[in-house]
Amino acid sequence: MTKNQELFARAQRTIPGGVNSPVRAFRAVGGTPCFFSRGEGAYAWDADGKRYIDYVGSWGPLILGHADPEVVAAVQQAAARGLSFGAPTEGEIDLAELLIKLVPSMDMVRLVSSGTEATMSAIRLARGYTERDLIIKFEGCYHGHADSLLVKAGSGALTFGNPSSGGVPADLAQHTLVLQYNDPAQLAEAFDHHGERIACVIVEPVAGNMNLIAPTQEFLKAMRELTHKHGALLIFDEVMTGFRVGLGSAQGLFGITPDLSTFGKIVGGGMPLGAFGGRRDVMEKIAPLGPVYQAGTLSGNPLSVAAGLVTLRKIQAPGFYDTLGARTRALTEGLTAAAAKHGVQFCAQAVGGMFGLYFAATPPRSYVEMMASDREAFNRFFHAMLEAGVYFAPAAFEAGFVSITHSDADIAATVAAADAWFAQG
Ligand code: PMP
Repeated sequence: MTKNQELFARAQRTIPGGVNSPVRAFRAVGGTPCFFSRGEGAYAWDADGKRYIDYVGSWGPLILGHADPEVVAAVQQAAARGLSFGAPTEGEIDLAELLIKLVPSMDMVRLVSSGTEATMSAIRLARGYTERDLIIKFEGCYHGHADSLLVKAGSGALTFGNPSSGGVPADLAQHTLVLQYNDPAQLAEAFDHHGERIACVIVEPVAGNMNLIAPTQEFLKAMRELTHKHGALLIFDEVMTGFRVGLGSAQGLFGITPDLSTFGKIVGGGMPLGAFGGRRDVMEKIAPLGPVYQAGTLSGNPLSVAAGLVTLRKIQAPGFYDTLGARTRALTEGLTAAAAKHGVQFCAQAVGGMFGLYFAATPPRSYVEMMASDREAFNRFFHAMLEAGVYFAPAAFEAGFVSITHSDADIAATVAAADAWFAQG
């Protein structure tokens, strides 16, 4: 028995599925999850001491790689000054000011402890501000595990949603309309029918929770125009895309200004932190200024703020995103070329420092198209790569992430490992 197997068996006795977040259990791909014991730069080592080139990076936060020395030092110094006060600290203002400088659509911002809290709070705020109940989300987009957001499409295109999780009241799911990503006509129809009741549209501006699906400009423009026309708010969930697809996040990349934005992952530099912010008149509806309640014992935690501040400072280095984007493209182009050489149906694409890999002829544009890709082929690929010391996300429906510490040699080694597997066909 390997140490990973031993730990997994032990974990399952006390932790449901042996994990504290479901996808970690390797249910989609089968086999034993890696229990990590250490990370440094682009690499993570499992409990058996095996080294992997890590393309998960804690699902996005680790844009500077594992254990960046400056981030670690800032966290250590903050820890020595006190772990939490439940009272304001100066660092929170520094982080708020920096976020607002980097994301011009935000006049004000509030810090929370996770992406889930950021999106849940932004939805409550949108409902409170508009005094409307309905929300629109898109099938395949994930916005954390708040009740209103764990909803799948109803039986017809414009019917209200059904819970996608046990424990979510059907009555609550009835307030969520689930539409198709990249379908502006369907969105227009929804606003035609229900416009006066819609509080907000929430979207991943590049979808990263159904593999990677890029938005069309028409889709983005339709969301902005329709919400504006009908007095609804547009929420960009940038928990994944924030500072990942570019320094201006997805809104900067695409030139679309949302009313509210949510952040997580990179803004906490690997520590638990989320943020939501936007227009001043909307943000002023939050307690203690306004009637919409939102709070947190550990909100604005000094250690998380310290890690976030260093991370956001370092990503502003000149050329950072050029390098990150070039490395990510080298990976996707290298893998695509290797597959083509061996006649394997496979494609890949990158947006900034995130990427999608597809066992399909062309990149999917919606959840339905994504579901048509060859998941079995992905699972075999995943295990072959794991064996070769390359850690991709353990499910076909996840985006991948490159950090600034992934070297040309790491990318070349990854492509070589994939080439060898594609060759076996
Ligand atoms: N929104 C998006 C777009 C996400 O990708 C995630 C997490 N992967 C969340 C929200 C939820 O964030 P968290 O896991 O920090 O609660």
